[in-house]
Amino acid sequence: MLRLNSILNHNLIEQEYDSFKPRLIFAILILFLFFSQLKAQILDDAACLSGGKLEMDYRKKPWKGNNQFLMVYLNEIKYFESKDKIRFLVPVKFWVYRDNKGQGGASIVDIKKFITDLNLYNQLNQTGIQFYTSNIKYIDNSNRQVFGYYIEATLQSIFRHTKPAINVYLIDGFKKKQESRKVVRGTYNMITKSIILQRKNSNTGLTHEVGHYFGLLHPHRHFDKGKSKQEPVSRIRTKNEDGKGIPLCEERGDLLADTKAEPNLTHLVDNDCNFTGSAMKDAWGDNYQSEVNNIMSYPTHYECRDSFTLSQKGVMLYSASKNKYAKYWNTENELNHKYFFDKNEPDDYMEIAGSIETGVNQDFNFHKIFMGKKTDFNDTCDWIKFEVKYEDKRNIKIIIASNSGNENPMTAVFYDKNKMALSRKVIAKPGEQIELGFNGAVSDWYYLQVISTKTESKHVDAYTVKVDLY
Ligand SMILES: [Zn+2]
Repeated sequence: MLRLNSILNHNLIEQEYDSFKPRLIFAILILFLFFSQLKAQILDDAACLSGGKLEMDYRKKPWKGNNQFLMVYLNEIKYFESKDKIRFLVPVKFWVYRDNKGQGGASIVDIKKFITDLNLYNQLNQTGIQFYTSNIKYIDNSNRQVFGYYIEATLQSIFRHTKPAINVYLIDGFKKKQESRKVVRGTYNMITKSIILQRKNSNTGLTHEVGHYFGLLHPHRHFDKGKSKQEPVSRIRTKNEDGKGIPLCEERGDLLADTKAEPNLTHLVDNDCNFTGSAMKDAWGDNYQSEVNNIMSYPTHYECRDSFTLSQKGVMLYSASKNKYAKYWNTENELNHKYFFDKNEPDDYMEIAGSIETGVNQDFNFHKIFMGKKTDFNDTCDWIKFEVKYEDKRNIKIIIASNSGNENPMTAVFYDKNKMALSRKVIAKPGEQIELGFNGAVSDWYYLQVISTKTESKHVDAYTVKVDLY
C-alpha cells in the first residue's frame, strides 16, 4: 500500500488537471474491480518466448463469426472507390518521461519519427486514417522512466490523460517481471485506452499499438491453447467439422479470416523474412502456412512487418467511426477541415524542420488541434529547412506569401544551422509577402522559422514558401 500511496501522491503533485477527484475515484474503482483482470487487459508488442498473456475476453464484436459485416461496412463507406482517401484525422498526445534534470527520454526527433512512421504505414496500407501530434508533455522524474508493467502503467495512464487524443507514454522500458523472460517494447492498456511504448522501438511499434486501439487483436492469439481455443489453419473448418456453420477462423485467433492462422512467430522467421515454421501443425494436423508481414504479428525481425489485411482495415475504420470523438476526426465534416495539417507536420522545432526543395512553391498552414471540450489548440510555429549544395556561393531569395484569407499576421526569421539569425524578424499582414534574402551562402542547410502572431484564432492561416538560389 505504501508504494501505491507514493504513486498516488506523486500524481497528486504532478497531475495537471482540475478533475482530480473523479480520476482518483476512477482509479480506486479500477484497482478494486479490475486488478484481478488487469493482466488480461494489456496487450503486448513483445518478443514473447511463451504464448503471452492474450487470454483476454473481448466484448462481442459485430465481425466475430461474421466477417462479411466488415465487407458490407467497407462497401457502405465506399472504401473501394477511394482507398487513398483520408477518412479520419486523429490527434496523438505524447507524454515523455525524462530524468529529474529533464535529461534523457524520447527526443523531439524520436517523436517525429514515431508519428511519421505511424502515418507512413497507415498510408502504405490505405487504412484511411492519419495522425497528428496534439502536443507533447514532459514528466521529469527519474523514478518514472521505467514503468511497472501493470499498476504503475495503468495509474500513469489514468492520471495523465487527454481524452480526445490517443495518449502515448514514451518511457525507457518496463520493470522486469520474474515470471516472464520476454522483452516488452510496448503495450496497449485496454482499461485506459492508452499506449505505453519503450522509446527505442521498431518502425511499426506505434502502428501495432494503434492497431490495438482501433480494435485489432494478435493473429496468433490463443495459438498455444489447444484444440478448443486455437485458430485452425483451414479457413473452412467449423466447430463440428461438418462444414456447416461459422468457420472457426472467424471466431478464434484475431477473429479475421483473411489473416492466416499463425503460431507466435518470434522464432519462426529467417533473416529474409521467410516463415520457417511450415513443419509445425495445428491441432487438426494441418501445416502452418503463415505470413510474416502482418503489423499485428510478432515476427523474429520486426522489419518484416509492413501490412494490414483488408479485414483489419475494416476493423480499424469501423472502430474509428464508433469512437466517441469520431465526429471530430471525420474528414467528411467540413468543420473538421481546420484540423488538416500540411505534410511537414510536426515541425514546431528546429530539429524537426520540414524539408523543402528550392525553386518550387510549397504550401504550409497553422492547423488546429482538437482538444475536446476545451478550446482547440493552434499550431503556431513552423520550422522549414532547405539545402544549398553548390561548390560556389549562392544568393538566396525567400518569399513567404501569407494567404489573403488569413486572420493573423505572421512573422519569419531566417537562420543558419547554428541558429544564428541571418535576417531580422519580418512581419506580414494577411495577403502580404515576406521577402528575405542572403548573399554569398555556402553549401549547407538553412532554416526558416515562421510564426503566427496570435495563438487564439478561429481561423487556420495558410501560406506558401518559395526559395530561389541564384
Ligand atoms: Zn500487440
